[in-house]
Amino acid sequence: MRSSLLAVAFTASLALAACGSTPDASSGSSPSVPASTPPASSAAPEAVPSAEPLKVVTAFYPLTYLAEQVGGDQITVTNLTPPGGEPHDLELTPQQVAAIGEADLVLYIEGFQPAVDEAVAQQASSTALSMSANLTLLEGEEHEGEEHEGEEHEGEDEGAHGATDPHVWLNPLNMEAMGTTVADRLSSIRADKQAMFSANAQALASTMSELDAAWAAGTEKCTSRDLVTSHEAFGYLAKRYGFTQVGISGLSPDSEPSPAKIVEIADFVRANNVKTIYYETLVDPKIAETVASETGASTAVLDPLEGLAPGSTGNYVTVMESNLASVKAGNGCA
Ligand SMILES: [Zn+2]
Repeated sequence: MRSSLLAVAFTASLALAACGSTPDASSGSSPSVPASTPPASSAAPEAVPSAEPLKVVTAFYPLTYLAEQVGGDQITVTNLTPPGGEPHDLELTPQQVAAIGEADLVLYIEGFQPAVDEAVAQQASSTALSMSANLTLLEGEEHEGEEHEGEEHEGEDEGAHGATDPHVWLNPLNMEAMGTTVADRLSSIRADKQAMFSANAQALASTMSELDAAWAAGTEKCTSRDLVTSHEAFGYLAKRYGFTQVGISGLSPDSEPSPAKIVEIADFVRANNVKTIYYETLVDPKIAETVASETGASTAVLDPLEGLAPGSTGNYVTVMESNLASVKAGNGCA
């Protein structure tokens, strides 16, 4: 009974679709506009939002994840860093700079991507939100012999005060706090959806608390508490779960380590019986492999979530779960 009714409805909708999708069969006077839109929108009038979705531009993946989780169907998100792209040294197209200027909200982390900082200062000083502004930031390591973009060392300014570590998203509790920040800002732009943004931020907070609990429990007892990583992306994660991070490169993966630095890391690996050198999905693992082969250690992926790999079906949570599995295996956590 029910199924035959459905079958009738289905046949009817097919007939409608056939009518709509074959402009040639009609009078021929209609211009070539897509004919499928009117029936689709009239089918569910209550699903039509009260206003246009807000335009949110995000600087790189974890902020995209936050925006989508909190903003739901009230926003459209444009991520400035393409899939597979490495966000530190992102360069913006003129179209992207324009999109930053036109956005209702821009989410970025000040001090992480110079090109985004610059575009925000010029185009979006009132609509941009630096997601790390309300968080407790870690000081970065000193930039010893680090070379940016093949240029000479830029005076003593940079090394003198030491940059703060921008990789705040690798502590799930920071994600929770940032979600609340996003909800507050979206609510100030679209007050009638405040309850929805708040509920979404709460749901995100629960997810992040669970992830944090899984990490805390999973890394409670490990034979090694050293995380030797290809660049220093994991400072917040290491601090939260009681590890010591030893980065082969500094805060940015494009800063080539000196030969002396590689020797120093290899010595550390041998002296501390480190079994695993962690490399990243978006950065050439060559140097991590060099250290591993010199010391007899293995390599494994620890994803700093600076972007998803092309074609990845994962998200922040699933990548952090595989990171946990990676650390449990690589650091001998029981
Ligand atoms: Zn990084």
